[in-house]
Amino acid sequence: MECREYSKPTTLQEAIDALKTAEDGVKLLAGGTDLLVNAREGHPYRELTIVDIYGLPELCRIEEMDGWIAIGAGVTHTQIEQSALIREKAGVLADACRTVGSPQIRNHSTIGGNIANASPAADSLAALSVLEAEVEVNRLGEVRRVPLGDIIEKPYRTTLSDRDLITRIFVKKADAGTQFHFYKLGRRKALAISRMTIATLLKRDGSGKVERFHMTMGATFPKPMLFEDVDNMLIGKRPTAKDIQAVADALSAKIPLIAGIRPSTAYKQPVCKKMVERILSELLGGQ
Ligand SMILES: Cc1cc2nc3c(=O)[nH]c(=O)nc-3n(C[C@H](O)[C@H](O)[C@H](O)COP(=O)(O)OP(=O)(O)OC[C@H]3O[C@@H](n4cnc5c(N)ncnc54)[C@H](O)[C@@H]3O)c2cc1C
Repeated sequence: MECREYSKPTTLQEAIDALKTAEDGVKLLAGGTDLLVNAREGHPYRELTIVDIYGLPELCRIEEMDGWIAIGAGVTHTQIEQSALIREKAGVLADACRTVGSPQIRNHSTIGGNIANASPAADSLAALSVLEAEVEVNRLGEVRRVPLGDIIEKPYRTTLSDRDLITRIFVKKADAGTQFHFYKLGRRKALAISRMTIATLLKRDGSGKVERFHMTMGATFPKPMLFEDVDNMLIGKRPTAKDIQAVADALSAKIPLIAGIRPSTAYKQPVCKKMVERILSELLGGQ
């Protein structure tokens, strides 16, 4: 890969210093599984300073904090998939990360890179949405925390500047008894780019009434989205088959509404409807 300069900081502070002092354009390099693929076409980084943040210790931690789990941007998909904490309290993300590429890709690619690359087909995004994820961004030492949906503007475009470093991703810890589901539709079982993903989080109280519900699709909309109107449809109910069907109808209706009518709409809408019905029936135990 051609670049103007290459810098390999060993701490987060050194990375921020490198971003401060770099002249002209900068590009962050994490696992490189998107960046190096892009580098094959032309010489996109020839005039840029590459700041290699892969393996920075501050970005590689998974920690529990009050009602949240803080996941370092440099944590790999394999580490997320294997984290006992994430599997228990945010299992839908572990399931989503398990579907990324192949073991080699998962061992090297990072969650921060998956977000910052902003591919609509990125597998973590729908799961992060139902976990109400927030992204911590460090701009030359100034730290802010923003909802995931505000980071991604449209396919392959974020609201980040080249000096913005994603440091952590916060996901809401789910209460005991919360049910998760992640579904990925691809052209084949392994190493497949998502055609659609569906992420679900469902929590019922002791009497079977739904207390918390989020369900959304990935690889479908220009950016990660949650739908309050749909998520409210089951709250306070012991859902019946009719309620499930209403959610399936409402979610599949979002596809042409938000993404417009495309060649893929003809299969995405019925697949979405059927899968939502199947997933909710399964989670609700056939009710
Ligand atoms: C064979 C193959 C199969 C794949 N399969 C899948 C799949 O099934 N599902 C899927 O979702 N993805 C897949 N990918 C895409 C890729 O692996 C992921 O998007 C991955 O998460 C990117 O992370 P990375 O660490 O490699 O990022 P990099 O390639 O290093 O960086 C990607 C982008 O993010 C920016 N960036 C990285 N870290 C940060 C940070 N902390 N702050 C700000 N910007 C940052 C970089 O500047 C760059 O623009 C696949 C890739 C390959 C090559």
